[in-house]
Amino acid sequence: MVSREERMIGYYDEKHETMPRKEQKEFQEKLIREFCEYAYNNTKYYHDKFDAAGIKPIDIKTLEDFYNVPLTEKSELVEIQKNNPPFGGLLAIPLNDLNVVFRSPGPLLEGFSIKAMTSVGNSLCKALYCNGFRKGDIVNVTFSFAGVPAGLGFTQGVNLIGAISIPMGTGKTDVQIELMKQLNVTGFIGTPSFLGKLGKKANKQGVNTKEELSIDVGCFTAEPLPESLRKNLEDTFDMMARQVYGIADLGIIGRECGLAQGMHLEETMVTEIVDPNTKESLPPGERGEVIVTVPYRRAIPFIRFCTGDASRVMDEAICGCGRTSPKLERWLGRVNQIIKVKGQFLHPKQVKNVLKKHGLKKFQVVVTRPDNISDEFVIKVEFDGDPSSLPLNEINKELADAIILKPNVEFVKPGEIKGKEEIVDLRKFD
Ligand SMILES: [Zn+2]
Repeated sequence: MVSREERMIGYYDEKHETMPRKEQKEFQEKLIREFCEYAYNNTKYYHDKFDAAGIKPIDIKTLEDFYNVPLTEKSELVEIQKNNPPFGGLLAIPLNDLNVVFRSPGPLLEGFSIKAMTSVGNSLCKALYCNGFRKGDIVNVTFSFAGVPAGLGFTQGVNLIGAISIPMGTGKTDVQIELMKQLNVTGFIGTPSFLGKLGKKANKQGVNTKEELSIDVGCFTAEPLPESLRKNLEDTFDMMARQVYGIADLGIIGRECGLAQGMHLEETMVTEIVDPNTKESLPPGERGEVIVTVPYRRAIPFIRFCTGDASRVMDEAICGCGRTSPKLERWLGRVNQIIKVKGQFLHPKQVKNVLKKHGLKKFQVVVTRPDNISDEFVIKVEFDGDPSSLPLNEINKELADAIILKPNVEFVKPGEIKGKEEIVDLRKFD
């Protein structure tokens, strides 16, 4: 059995994971130069895109140059494939060299070659190792295997780090619990809600999840993992619960280490944050839309792919785990659900999570711009009773941490908030 201490230390790919930041930038610049040239020469889509923007791949030398390359919106790709099926001229390798094809939401047909799969495997290995998985683990992989890359990719990652995978998907919960007991399964990969469901079911069958199950490490993604839920899972199973951020179109982009304070960015990808409205690059520390380039994806290349997800690259010193890559804050929702207030993106979910913790449900954020110069906002919260009975300092502090803005909370009586909207934007920008 792998000890908790062993799960916290070590690297899968020490060279890249501990590379000084300056070298990391140079490494990425080299990857980007090659990749832009490759996509330009092998796909009509990027050839036309670069030409239309008046950019020659040879002119891209630094990441700063690269940030002038036009973004790739998934909707454009869906349209291209619709007009020219099946791949819309996006395939940069001969069809016979493809090894895996899947359909991501859109719909968009995508594919990998074995070469890329190995690299995808590597980023998955790095992610799983970083999360605490080790050789010797027996791992339940509960993501779907049907038409999506998650189940298959994680299974491959588990095998490449030398652990044993049990490809399960989300069905057959009784069998899953039985196998967990029978094989002393030590690892879980899936959504937090699915492990929660398995735990409840096991309890119902009279299984003590802490004593009778051996789950010791978990890799969660596809759903948010708020701290309260992490703690709940860790207590229920006596385990280490860690998360990764990835999307089907790109692979694993960020991964939590043992210290679990943000997700280390994958070194072989270029991840940036842009303002979702203007699409301008934002400096570290600012929240916006996550944009990712995966240079090793050669079958269907994506350059500056817009994920539609909101997050922030944390501008911090090197992590205590020794990994040097900057970290991505947790997933903050979809960008089309957030609005910008006082220069910060505000997502209702950030407010909701804090209020929920304190038993407060109905709220509404009202944003105004009284003098037409600066934004004001008030968080109206329904509460039946005397608000001074609530831990107001704590609530204010947690809200300030969540939204990175000084909150202005106003308690109102139940029924006073009109409408279902969680954010009401009354600003006029004309
Ligand atoms: Zn770390």
